[in-house]
Amino acid sequence: MHLNPYGEDAVNLAADLANRRPATHEELAERCRAAGMVLETPVTPQDLERVHAVLDAWEKVVDTPGEHERAELVNRMLAESAAYPRMTDHAGGWHLHYRDGRQPLGAVLFSLISVGTALHLVGRGVHRLRRCAVTECTMIFADTSRTGRQRYCSQRCANRDAVRRHRAGHRAGHRTDHRDGPGGGRPG
Ligand SMILES: [Zn+2]
Ligand SMILES: [Zn+2]
Repeated sequence: MHLNPYGEDAVNLAADLANRRPATHEELAERCRAAGMVLETPVTPQDLERVHAVLDAWEKVVDTPGEHERAELVNRMLAESAAYPRMTDHAGGWHLHYRDGRQPLGAVLFSLISVGTALHLVGRGVHRLRRCAVTECTMIFADTSRTGRQRYCSQRCANRDAVRRHRAGHRAGHRTDHRDGPGGGRPG
């Protein structure tokens, strides 16, 4: 996985892993490969433990809406995880790594998620990382939309909330004005 200027793949991988935590280190390895990562070292149960700790810290970032508090948490993750950037072509194609060579997967994900999240927040907007607006839905998403006003994790949740707001509106007595209904049409 190459870090693009907006860190999109890395921040999406973090959301995917946080939303559905991997149960085993084999599953972790499989999902990282599926996301396009080239794994350089054998994956162990310690990597899984490390990743859970990283995701716990990352979810705190998600749940901290204040811009400066949020940036402070990301900065702490960067300080602990990232080394100076360096060029590599280990996976074909030159790109940057913000870490030392041949690190275990847990450490690689720590720096990838920290740097990717930082790039996303500075490149697209500090507010563009959140949980779904549907109260019972805890899904996290990185808002990569054009407008930066995505509120739901999925179209399904958007529809769910629209139906609910419509019903709430009716209960409160706000009737929709059906102008084109029977009796409201054109004369003749
Ligand atoms: Zn690489
Ligand atoms: Zn949702």
